[in-house]
Amino acid sequence: MMGESSFLMAYCTFVVAVFGLCMGSFLNCLAWRMTHGESVLRGRSHCTSCGHELSARDLVPVLSWLVSGGKCRYCGERVSPRYPATELLCCVAFVSIFLRYGLTLEAAELVAFASVLLVLSLTDLDEYVIPNATIVAAIVVRAAYVVAVGLTGSGVALALARDSIVSGVVVAVPIIALALIMDRVLGRDSLGGGDVKLFFVAGLYFGWQQCIFIILLACVLGIVFGMVGQSQHSDDGKSDPRLIPFGPSIALACWVCMLVGEPVVSWYLGLF
Ligand SMILES: [Zn+2]
Repeated sequence: MMGESSFLMAYCTFVVAVFGLCMGSFLNCLAWRMTHGESVLRGRSHCTSCGHELSARDLVPVLSWLVSGGKCRYCGERVSPRYPATELLCCVAFVSIFLRYGLTLEAAELVAFASVLLVLSLTDLDEYVIPNATIVAAIVVRAAYVVAVGLTGSGVALALARDSIVSGVVVAVPIIALALIMDRVLGRDSLGGGDVKLFFVAGLYFGWQQCIFIILLACVLGIVFGMVGQSQHSDDGKSDPRLIPFGPSIALACWVCMLVGEPVVSWYLGLF
């Protein structure tokens, strides 16, 4: 027999998973609209090929795509597997955060931040941009969390705000300096402005100690994605292989840090 608490846990996990799938679908749409200059608030969801309005049965995360065989029901045009993949990724991200942090204020903050990271990863993959709106959204989420902590009366909100800002600056300034030097050495832009802003945001959320881990992991992921991307693009020769979006690597590193950042940092601080 399942205990009452484990039943409740399974039920909550299920709810979070469904919420993650639906948010994934919404964030896909949001990212697409941001890069295609459509209003993110107005207008109904439509097929990106034929423009046909989508009904409720076309909008069920993952299932609609599977049932339609990965094609639009109206024009038969192929629908990228990226859509259900993003929905699943969002689901896994939300569930992992819930399992790590439970039903807490911190979990709510990190779920919101993960949503922002997903959107900017999609826009960076498609258009090589990390929209300023996503950076502002991430800062607003962090500020709201600090205010919420203050409202609980724990008395650490001011210290939290101060540490966040200091860490953001401590992380961003050396990266800007390094980027400027790299630009000179390489004779081209090495790191996008959006990437630097995203590292600043990572500093706000995780503190500079955990950011060292994020920077290292993002670099490793960036190199791996770069090699995969380069081997894919070498045939068509259309896209510039030097232009590899770094945002998704930073976002992925932030997600890993949410889950294991603290033990990793205490482990490597313990080495000294
Ligand atoms: Zn269509």
